[in-house]
Amino acid sequence: MTKIALVTGGTRGIGASVSISLKKAGYNVAATYNSNTEKANAFASEHEIEVFQWNVADSAACEAGVKQVQDKMGSIDILINNAGISKASMAHKMSVEQWDDVIRTDLDSVFYMTRCVLEGMREKSFGRIITISSINGQKGEMGLINYSAAKAGVLGFTKALAQETARKNITVNAVAPGYIDTDILADASEDFLKSLVGKIPVGRLGTVEDVSRIVTFLASDDAGFITGSTITANGGQYFT
Ligand code: NDP
Repeated sequence: MTKIALVTGGTRGIGASVSISLKKAGYNVAATYNSNTEKANAFASEHEIEVFQWNVADSAACEAGVKQVQDKMGSIDILINNAGISKASMAHKMSVEQWDDVIRTDLDSVFYMTRCVLEGMREKSFGRIITISSINGQKGEMGLINYSAAKAGVLGFTKALAQETARKNITVNAVAPGYIDTDILADASEDFLKSLVGKIPVGRLGTVEDVSRIVTFLASDDAGFITGSTITANGGQYFT
C-alpha cells in the first residue's frame, strides 16, 4: 500500500523540496503551512500535492490538523518535522516573546506533531520520524540562543525517542543542514552572503535538494537500520 508522508512547512523552501522528492519516490504526500496561503495553493496546484493549514506551535491545532489529514488520506507512516522559524537577537536584548516563539515553533512542535502520529505507527509496526535540526543546534550561533537551543533540543529528542520506538520498527532521525539558499536568507545583504560563503569549505550555499535527498533516503526502507542519528549537510562548515 502507498505510504503516507506528512511534511510540516512543506510548501516552501526545504520542506517544499522534501514534499516533491517524497512524491517522486512514490509516497502520498500532505504538506502543511502556517499563513502563506497564496504560496501554498500555488504549490498544491503546480505539484498536485495536498496542502493543509495549521500552526505547529499549537498542540490542539496539531491534533485537529493530523486528524484532518488522516481522515482524508489515511494513517501517517512518515512524519517530517520541518517547519521552523528564526528570530535573531543578542541574548541581553532578547524578549521573552522572541524566545517563546522560536522554542514553541521549532521544538515544542516536534513533540506536538510526533505524539499525534506515534500510536498509528506503533499499531502498524512501521514509522519514520525525521526532524530538520540545524548546524546552529550543533555548534551554537551568536544572536540565536533561542534557535540554537531549539535545534539542539530536537537532537536530544531524536536520540531518546529512537530508543523507545526501535522495537516497533519506527526509526527517528535528524538532519542538520548548514546554510541553505531559501527565503530564510532572503533579507541577508550581499556582504553577509559573501562572508557566509567564505566560511563554507565547498564554496557555496546548500541547495534545498542537498537536504531533501537525505530526508528521502531516511524515509526509505533502505534506511531501516539507521535510527537515533543526525546526518549533517553543511559543506564542511562544521564537523561534529
Ligand atoms: P522557509 O522559511 O523557507 O519555510 C518555512 C516553512 O515552514 C513554510 O512552509 C512555513 O509556512 C512553515 N512554518 C513556519 N512556521 C510555522 C508554523 N508555526 N506552523 C506551521 N508551519 C510553519 O524555511 P526553510 O526552508 O529555510 O527552513 C526549513 C527548516 O529547515 C526549518 O526548520 C529551519 O530552521 C531549518 N533550517 C534551515 C536552514 C537554512 O539555511 N534555510 C539551515 C538549517 C536548518 P508559511 O509558508 O505559511 O509561512
